[in-house]
Amino acid sequence: MNLNIEEIRNQFPILNQSVNGKPLIYFDNAATTQKPISLINAIKKYYENDNSNIHRGIHTLAERATNAFEETRKSVQQFVNSKEVEEIIFTKGTTEGINLVAYSYGEKFIQAGDEIIISTMEHHSNIVPWQILCEKKAAILKVIPINEEGELLMDEFEKMLSSKTKIVSLVWASNALGTINPIKEIIEKSHAFGAKVLIDAAQAVSHLDVDVQDLNCDFLIFSAHKMYGPTGVGILYGKRELLESMLPYQSGGEMIKEVRFEGTTYNDIPYKFEAGTPNIADVIALNHAIEFINGISKSKIRDYENSLLDYFLQLICETNDTIKLYGTSKKKVAIQSFVLKNMHHFDAGMMLDANGIAVRTGHHCTQPLMSRFGIEGTIRASFAVYNTKKEIDVLVESLIKISKK
Ligand code: PMP
Repeated sequence: MNLNIEEIRNQFPILNQSVNGKPLIYFDNAATTQKPISLINAIKKYYENDNSNIHRGIHTLAERATNAFEETRKSVQQFVNSKEVEEIIFTKGTTEGINLVAYSYGEKFIQAGDEIIISTMEHHSNIVPWQILCEKKAAILKVIPINEEGELLMDEFEKMLSSKTKIVSLVWASNALGTINPIKEIIEKSHAFGAKVLIDAAQAVSHLDVDVQDLNCDFLIFSAHKMYGPTGVGILYGKRELLESMLPYQSGGEMIKEVRFEGTTYNDIPYKFEAGTPNIADVIALNHAIEFINGISKSKIRDYENSLLDYFLQLICETNDTIKLYGTSKKKVAIQSFVLKNMHHFDAGMMLDANGIAVRTGHHCTQPLMSRFGIEGTIRASFAVYNTKKEIDVLVESLIKISKK
């Protein structure tokens, strides 16, 4: 493995602080990761030197900003291995990307009686847009159930598939359970019935190797802020022919070719889906997050994070009966949900915060999943490449201490 974690940590100035008198331990990485200094500096440099609106200006600053913005698009293309750079669309985040597809694809291609398949472990952003679409179109939403370990029941999924299935929209790695779903198999099986497949890669992207051509997914969506990148930027990958066939999502500047009062023609992809001035500074900054990940290599990041998860689980095992785990699949990213048997998760979260430890508590925007397990919420620890075993020791010691209160 041989990662120099101290050197990696030094790239994240935010980690070097005390919270409530204790060294900060940041285990809320599934909500958002911290940002490397190279990215923070890039934002400052952009506003100090290059700030300008893109695509429209012919002056030097506009050209610099446009080039840097489009450089990121090329980096993302390589990052996910899409065939063409035009298949990469910048959005605000995963939520906007899924809404875009539900609206722009759904509005045109979904009809009464069509079926859309999601799963029990979806984030609300991969549930509600489809519910709204189904309501509007009198289409039917079907939900793949899961087992106690938090894995999809693939037999049930296969039974659901039919020529009525038009869209299968599934999370690759669950934000609440960490489960890695067998998306390649899901994509193949869905395509056999002519369905289009959308992959919510919000949690997968910072841990797993993404190759959209190898996966053969129709859409793949993620947020920059969960992969050491800035907030307010997301990526929608879509196959060219699908994106070209879809309706625009928002309309106005940038997404047009020609506007006349008699009628308007739309711009080519990707611009057709990028109406208005985008989040230029943060898109440019995203390039530095990609550089950060590539600089270490995703497989090394993944192996290290998995070793942290294993270590955490090993220590938790030794605490006997006080902690109940949720999400016990063997195929997982480094995310672990759990509850303390004698304490509400919010109380536990507050006590951990008093020890400088940031974890997420609540339903993690997966209320139907929580209902499936008959709980309201969990405590969730999620690990990133700058976390250490020493920090996990502190977390487990704190959990043991507070569970005795
Ligand atoms: N899907 C999953 C699996 C997520 O973890 C999240 C963020 N928690 C989202 C979708 C929504 O992402 P965003 O809030 O960045 O739009």
